[in-house]
Amino acid sequence: MVMVINLDQQLVKQIEEICAARGVRLTPQRKRVFELICASLKASSAYELLEQLKATEPQAKPPTVYRALDFLLEQGFIHRVESTNSFIQCCSCNAHKHYSHLLICDKCSNVIELQDDSLVALLADNAEKHGFNITNHVIESHGVCQSCTSEITK
Ligand SMILES: [Zn+2]
Ligand SMILES: [Zn+2]
Repeated sequence: MVMVINLDQQLVKQIEEICAARGVRLTPQRKRVFELICASLKASSAYELLEQLKATEPQAKPPTVYRALDFLLEQGFIHRVESTNSFIQCCSCNAHKHYSHLLICDKCSNVIELQDDSLVALLADNAEKHGFNITNHVIESHGVCQSCTSEITK
């Protein structure tokens, strides 16, 4: 099954509850960085997040952002877009660890996260035939999203 996941305002509340259940601390800075990632329609770079964070926390420094990002990645609340070195929220934060197929629009930088277990299983099968044991996947496709495509044809 392929799931298309979009921004959901309930997410912040959801991760607060997950953190409480896991007994990990969602500090105001970690929460703020997550909110900034959710609020952005496109994938955010660490630099952009730092600039935005400074609006409310003028003393914020790069390590502040990197520590928050590490925490959010570790908890599975966000994904790193490897090919553009930026970050998006994961919209199934509470789900098991998963690999996503990311569709990255080169025009507006919007990223769509797809979860397709059969794709990941196929990759694992192919690797296994070569005696290769996969420990990580980066599955990213670049192109033009639906709304940018309709902009062009307008
Ligand atoms: Zn995800
Ligand atoms: Zn686009």
